[in-house]
Amino acid sequence: MIICTTISELRTILNGQRGEAPDGLIGLVPTMGFLHDGHASLMQRSVNECAFTVLTVFVNPLQFGPNEDFDRYPRDLERDAALAEKHGVDLLFAPSVQEMYPTRPLTKILINEVADRLCGASRPGHFDGVGTVVTKLFNLVQPGRAYFGMKDAQQVAVIQQMVNDLNTPVDIVPCETVREADGLAMSSRNVYLSSDERAQAVILSRTLQQAERMLREPGMTAGKLSAEAAASIRTSPLAVIDYAELLTYPSLQPIDPDQLLTEMNQTLILALAVKFGGTRLIDNRLLQSAGGGLNV
Ligand code: AMP
Repeated sequence: MIICTTISELRTILNGQRGEAPDGLIGLVPTMGFLHDGHASLMQRSVNECAFTVLTVFVNPLQFGPNEDFDRYPRDLERDAALAEKHGVDLLFAPSVQEMYPTRPLTKILINEVADRLCGASRPGHFDGVGTVVTKLFNLVQPGRAYFGMKDAQQVAVIQQMVNDLNTPVDIVPCETVREADGLAMSSRNVYLSSDERAQAVILSRTLQQAERMLREPGMTAGKLSAEAAASIRTSPLAVIDYAELLTYPSLQPIDPDQLLTEMNQTLILALAVKFGGTRLIDNRLLQSAGGGLNV
């Protein structure tokens, strides 16, 4: 595995690779590092499907708010490199902030509507930062496929919208959420949790499972399902809800609270963001209402 930290090295290596295998598919796995098995599943899928896999590790300051965890975000490049190599990644690109943003960027990608709700509402500017860095990575790597986790389902919807709107020649590949044995979605931020918080964090995945069961109950409405989800999360004393919302997916449109779910024919998302102490966790589940087929 090649490791590089500069854009000029990255371009030289990729040009060489394209020269050697002009038809070879390049797969991109963008991450912020501190890799876990969720990231590993993305890397493995790219390695299986593409001739050459590029993993990027970059904690992108543009997508963090002023009072968020940019400075304390966990980092361990040595461990990340070992894991990437084990999974067959060909190239690890780990640039510095200075390398990616040598001057204050005056251009940014603004994605409306789909980026305004959920995490976009709680973290203003977050998806502008994500859209901007992902566009830069697409321009640098020019991948045929890019792999994103459904753990961040809104991010998948936002990136897919951006790629559609801008005719970016890349296939976005959504990958299933990888979970701990008790159901907690893997996240680099899970290391922040105290042991009590960690034990109670399982309420997110339990709530999502419960919602799946409740979906088909006669008389179940959108409003009732969201309210039941919020009530379920509140059974964990350390949990503070940021949002618990039922929306359409991938358009992320709100649903009339009185709407009977058994009468809808659409893919929905129950999306949760919950704080445990200073740690904000997100999780979600796609729900298939009555006759709907999953369309991601
Ligand atoms: P991050 O390093 O948290 O920015 O995540 C990098 C990529 O890995 C994103 O596409 C995430 O959605 C994906 N990812 C993070 N956690 C998981 C997980 N538990 N299962 C699957 N993919 C994940």
